[in-house]
Amino acid sequence: TIDRHAERVRPEFPLLKREFDGRPVVFLDNASTTPKPRSVIDAVVNVLERSTANVHRGVHSLGEEATRLFDEARREVASLIGATPNEIVLVRGTTEAINFVANGLELGPEDEVVFPASEHHANWIPWRVHGKPVPMPIDEDGVPRWETLASLITKKTKLVSIGHVSNVTGAIAPVEEVVRIAHEHGVPVLLDAAQSLSHLPLDVNKLGVDFLAASSHKAFGPSGVGLLWSKKDFLAKCPLYQVGGGMISLNNDIDVGGFIPRDAPFKFEAGTPAIEATIGFGAAVKWMRAIGMDAIREHDIAMSKYLFEGLSDIKGVRVLAKKLPVEKRIALATFVVDAPAMTQESVARALCDMFGVCVSAGFHCTHVLHARTHLPGTVRASPHLFNTTAEIDLLLEGVREIAG
Ligand code: PMP
Repeated sequence: TIDRHAERVRPEFPLLKREFDGRPVVFLDNASTTPKPRSVIDAVVNVLERSTANVHRGVHSLGEEATRLFDEARREVASLIGATPNEIVLVRGTTEAINFVANGLELGPEDEVVFPASEHHANWIPWRVHGKPVPMPIDEDGVPRWETLASLITKKTKLVSIGHVSNVTGAIAPVEEVVRIAHEHGVPVLLDAAQSLSHLPLDVNKLGVDFLAASSHKAFGPSGVGLLWSKKDFLAKCPLYQVGGGMISLNNDIDVGGFIPRDAPFKFEAGTPAIEATIGFGAAVKWMRAIGMDAIREHDIAMSKYLFEGLSDIKGVRVLAKKLPVEKRIALATFVVDAPAMTQESVARALCDMFGVCVSAGFHCTHVLHARTHLPGTVRASPHLFNTTAEIDLLLEGVREIAG
């Protein structure tokens, strides 16, 4: 299953043809950002070469063309998550989307936000600046103790904010259960889908969340664009955090001191947007949908088993959350290699230098998780659809050699 899916899509990724000193690149760092398939690259090049024009402004043909491609991208992105286009605010990425909500909820210093202590800094620091953070305990592997959720919600709780998939353990959050408990207390739920958008079928209606944040660049699209999804009632009353061109209604008089903003999402998108990146994002979504999120998940589950079993067999390697069942995780493994006098960063460097294997190392923007689990940094291998068993074998061989 793994290689059947992988071999089908590999020729579409120019990056995978690169070599370091004659050694093919083994790209296992998809949780940081994914390589881009040819159709995404072509969509970006095409708009740069043929349709450069500003969007939602020009009356000439090029302007109309660019606007059509841009609007189409928003429709693609919306349909991937079961939303309508006007509920999608295009932002810079997951980080900006979460900040948008943090700002929009107008939290006071006593307003509490509950989130797992394992969260990425993007879903932690905003709650230090806006409101009061209430981190949920995690276990010794960094997996949230979801059973504590109800006890953490008080009269002051204004939001429960959770990562759909942990960028460290690969654990999938029990979203529907979290939503049920939060909603019982009248508290909305934000879902950070940075790590799930390209791995799991997503439908905001089925999930029942109130906000969803994600980035294009972790889902085969360009960097510089992402989405914030929310229901229309929030977007109607959410305060504007930036204003300028392109977001006011025509024919009203700014001179006299006021202006009438356009309806959402446009009132939140002042200034020229990331036109090429957004069109590339639309192409990436189209590419994923053509493959099918179910097929992607099928590869992911088989890959997850292969990767975890392989790593768990190596002496001197501690794999985080390795006991999680395959349906509760994605194919993302974080581990510590016991190699005398080597930091985890130098383990990752050696994997690249000796084997051409690209993985992450360090704290992965989760300093609290690493502090609470007493880990001095970790190595993370995050395969995706195009990765083969032979590539995982190379990773395992490298880790075995370094650990041995
Ligand atoms: N949340 C999670 C779980 C992530 O993994 C990341 C990226 N590493 C982010 C948020 C932030 O995404 P971005 O840098 O694209 O804004």
